[in-house]
Amino acid sequence: MVSIEKPQEQALEPLIYDISVAGRIGVNLPNCDVPESELPDGLVRDELNLPEVSELQVVRHFLKLSQLNHAIDKGFYPLGSCTMKYNPKVNEDMARLAGYASLHPSVDDESAQGSLALMYQLQEWLAEISGFEATSLAPAAGAQGEFAGILMIRKYHLERGDTQRTTILVPNSSHGTNPATVSMAGFKALELPSDAKGNVDVEALQKVCDEQGDTIAGMMITVPSTLGLFEEPILEVIDIVHKVGGLMYMDGANMNALMGIVKPGEVGFDVMHYNLHKTFSTPHGGGGPGSGPVGVNDKLKPYLPGPIVDIIEEETDEEPPLYGLVMPEKSIGRLKAFHGNFGMHIRAYAYIRAYGGSGLRDVTRHAVLNANYIRAQLMDTYKVPYPRYCGHEFVLEGHFDDVDDIHALDISKRLMDYGIHPPTNYFPLIVPEALLIEPTETEGKEELDNFIDVMKKIAAEARSNPELLKNAPHVAPTRRLDEKKAAKDLILCCSPALPAAGD
Ligand SMILES: *Cc1c(COP(=O)(O)O)cnc(C)c1O
Repeated sequence: MVSIEKPQEQALEPLIYDISVAGRIGVNLPNCDVPESELPDGLVRDELNLPEVSELQVVRHFLKLSQLNHAIDKGFYPLGSCTMKYNPKVNEDMARLAGYASLHPSVDDESAQGSLALMYQLQEWLAEISGFEATSLAPAAGAQGEFAGILMIRKYHLERGDTQRTTILVPNSSHGTNPATVSMAGFKALELPSDAKGNVDVEALQKVCDEQGDTIAGMMITVPSTLGLFEEPILEVIDIVHKVGGLMYMDGANMNALMGIVKPGEVGFDVMHYNLHKTFSTPHGGGGPGSGPVGVNDKLKPYLPGPIVDIIEEETDEEPPLYGLVMPEKSIGRLKAFHGNFGMHIRAYAYIRAYGGSGLRDVTRHAVLNANYIRAQLMDTYKVPYPRYCGHEFVLEGHFDDVDDIHALDISKRLMDYGIHPPTNYFPLIVPEALLIEPTETEGKEELDNFIDVMKKIAAEARSNPELLKNAPHVAPTRRLDEKKAAKDLILCCSPALPAAGD
C-alpha cells in the first residue's frame, strides 16, 4: 500500500511536440506502386507543424497518456451509480468478429441474418431477465431509454384522450436524469419526499394521488433507489399510482442488485430501461458508447421505439427463421440512426451467454454481498445514514463530528493517492457529504479489504494530519483542480507553442 506523508509536485508529461526532433520519422511507407504525380495545390499544408518522432516515441507517449487516467483495468473503481464492473475481454473479441464489425448498417435484412438473430435473442433475454413483454434496443444511453419510456407513456395517455395527465412523480432521491427526462418530454416533475428509512414517503404519495390523481401520467422510480436501498413499499407504491390511472417507470440502472432475483415487469412496472454499459459489462465512460434498451409490458408494446427485430417467417424443418427489422404499430419513432449501438448489443449478448441464467443471479448476489461487506466494515468509522441492508451500493457521509472542515471531496481526493478511484460525491443530494460506494461483483475480497483499510487510514489521517486530505491528491498527474474552471474552460487539444513571428 502506498503511503504518502508529504505532498510532492509531479512533473507533467511533455507534449509530443516537445520531443519532436527535425527529420525524425516514425513511419515506413511501402514503395509506391502507381505512377507518381504532383498533388494539386492547397492539398499539402506546410503550416501544420506536425511533431517529428520515432515509432517507439509515439508508442511510449500514448501508452503513458493512457495511464494518466484511472480505469477499471488499472484499479478499483467504486463509483456509485455507475457499476464500473470489469469488461471481459472476450466481449471485445466478439465485437471485432469481421461478420459483425464489417457489416454495413444499410445492408438488406436478408444479408444481415446473423446480426439480426443476435439482436432478436438479446431482446428476448432482456425481456426474460426483467419480466417484460418486449424490448427495443434502439436507445443509445440510459437517459435516452428514460426519454423513450416517458414518450411512450405520453403517447399512451394521449391516445386515450387523457390530455390532462401532465404530471410525473419523481422521488427526491432520484437520479438527475429522471426529472430532466420528465421536462424534456413535456411533463411537469412533481418531487416526492423520502421517509426516515430512505423509502419513498407513501403517505405523501397517497396525498398527491388523492388530490390530483387525474393529472398524474405516471411515476419514475429507481429500484433499488440511488441510496442503494430496496424500496420496501414498492408494491404499495405501484398500486397507488396504478389506481389513479398512472403508469410506472422503473429506472433500471441498478439492475445489478436485482438481476435473477426480482423481475420488475412481474412486480407491476409498465416500462423500464436497462443500462447495458452498467449491468451487462459493456464499456463505460470514455470507452462507450452506451446502450439503454427499454422493456415494456403489453400496454406499451405498440409504442416501442424502432426499429426492433421480429421473426418475419417462422422456422421450418429445412430453414432457420427469417428475421427482419420492423417499426412497432404506433411507435414513438426512431431515437437514433440505424439500429442503436450494435457493438454494445454484441458485447451484452456475449456477457449473458457467458454467464447464463444462474451465473447472472450470482452476479447480483456477489454485487450485493460485496457492498454489504464494505458497509458493515466501515459503519464504525463513518456515518452510514440509513443503517439497513443495502443493494449493490450504499451511501456514507464523508465528514466527521470531531474534525472541522473535512469534506467528502477531501476523502475522495486522498483515495486517489492510494490508487483508488473516488466514489460518487455529493449524490444522492439528500445525504450530507454523500459518498456513494459501489464495489461491483468483479472485485475479490483482497481488493475490498484493501479499500476498507485505506478508508480507515484516511479517517485516521483526517484527525492526525488533515492537511494531507485537504491538499490531496499528491501523486496524481495533476494536483487538485479548480473544478469549475475545468468544466467551463475546457482545453481539449494540445497544440505546439506557435513559432514566434519572424522564425
Ligand atoms: C447511470 C444512471 C442513469 C443514466 O444512464 P446513462 O446511460 O448515463 O444516460 C439513470 N439513472 C440512474 C439511477 C443511473 O445510475
